[in-house]
Amino acid sequence: MDQQHQAGRRRAITGLLTMLGGVSLSPLLKAADAIPAAGPARLSEAEMQTAAWIREHALSDNRSYEILESLTTEVGARLAGSEADLRAVAWAEAKMRALGLDKVWKEPVQYPVWQRLSELASVISPYPHRLQVTALGHSVSTPEGGVQADIVRVASLQDLKNTDPAKVHGKIVFIDHKLKKSADYGEVAAGRSRGASEAARKGALALVIRSVGTDSHRLPHTGVMHYDDDAPRIAAAAISNPDADLLVRMLDRGEPVRLDLRIQTAMGGHFTSYNVIGELRGSEQPDDYVLIGGHLDSWDLGTGAVDDGAGCAITLGAAEFLRRHQLRPRRSIRVVLYANEEQGLIGGRAYHTAHRHEISRIQAASEADSGQGPVKMLRSDVRPAALAVVGQIQQVLTGLGVNAGGNQAHPGPDMGVLREAGAASFSLDMQADDYFDLHHTADDTFDKIDPARLRQSCAAFAVFAWMAAQSPVDFGSGDALIQSRKTRTAG
Ligand SMILES: [Zn+2]
Repeated sequence: MDQQHQAGRRRAITGLLTMLGGVSLSPLLKAADAIPAAGPARLSEAEMQTAAWIREHALSDNRSYEILESLTTEVGARLAGSEADLRAVAWAEAKMRALGLDKVWKEPVQYPVWQRLSELASVISPYPHRLQVTALGHSVSTPEGGVQADIVRVASLQDLKNTDPAKVHGKIVFIDHKLKKSADYGEVAAGRSRGASEAARKGALALVIRSVGTDSHRLPHTGVMHYDDDAPRIAAAAISNPDADLLVRMLDRGEPVRLDLRIQTAMGGHFTSYNVIGELRGSEQPDDYVLIGGHLDSWDLGTGAVDDGAGCAITLGAAEFLRRHQLRPRRSIRVVLYANEEQGLIGGRAYHTAHRHEISRIQAASEADSGQGPVKMLRSDVRPAALAVVGQIQQVLTGLGVNAGGNQAHPGPDMGVLREAGAASFSLDMQADDYFDLHHTADDTFDKIDPARLRQSCAAFAVFAWMAAQSPVDFGSGDALIQSRKTRTAG
């Protein structure tokens, strides 16, 4: 198509010169030939066929499933700052080398160590029960002897903010905010991350939340929380959804409900872990790259299969598939397995710090961190000149059941800071209706993985990464893209 376009231009110019009737056509023709073509704005038909080939063959390739089996079996739970954190790093580096990536290296990431030691919660009165509880990440311990106090129920973080401090003082605050659908995660999880300081400012002794999960299993969901500097630090824990229901039924009887909460944790010391990076080198512009990946750390309760072993396996599997079939695109494909996402996107920030001078080299960024898939929608965040290629990527992905989103995308938690710095971004949105059943629980294990879902996700990432890296058009990372986002938002 591009060649036809160029030939058409030449014919038109030749025709014009013929009409002029001059004898000195030859130098003018040469000049016409030297007029730069508008530039190939789209992938060729042959490249489209290659992309379709990748889609079909990756769809029956089990390598990503094998990678995830290996990670969850040979490493398992890998809490950031634990001994397993470093075992995961060693696993990732060895796996990338074994998979034959061209270049494998690691970059240091530092953070303090939080440890879970013990956790107990029970109802003292009116009806004694032992509850299934887990400390929230970064929670302090309860005072020696634990906390014994009545609970005060609030419906949400917002409800807590509106509650009279007199009602909360000397109590255990119970945030009873049920996560009904995945889309509400951010809003509901705010109670987990900010509830303790909000409660402490009003004189509460501890915080207990209903687990941020869509399931009804008797397993609590952990997750990180943060303390504000201006509030006392009180212990924070999550109870399982059925246990939260139990407390509600007791409260419905109109009697005070008294809990005994005993949380022991430890925080301190500096830990050095690593972002583990592997690259399939590009054939023409190897210093420009498509950035994909997931986070290597997990919570300690399960074995981190869906969060985020799946994302690591999907993206690593995609790069390995392309390497195995000698499908080396123009630009490089870089897979980053980030350290410590769970406790504050620390690996993602470290990557930004180390690579902020090369934002314009990032052709596209997209992290896989919402489970095993399948991928349901493609969204982009590119300069207008690249939208034709995005349309071509979409065209190939449609064969996987992927719908078209708009030109507004977030690349995922660890890559958010790169997006802020101007990196062109993509989101391969995954089906997430069961993701928050398992998220951050002891149930996040390998048996929950459906190989067919993982294969579809891997195929989608392989197609996306190859086409983006092969694109004849630069996707526009840099200040101009930041500006164009403002226009898009305004429009
Ligand atoms: Zn995650």
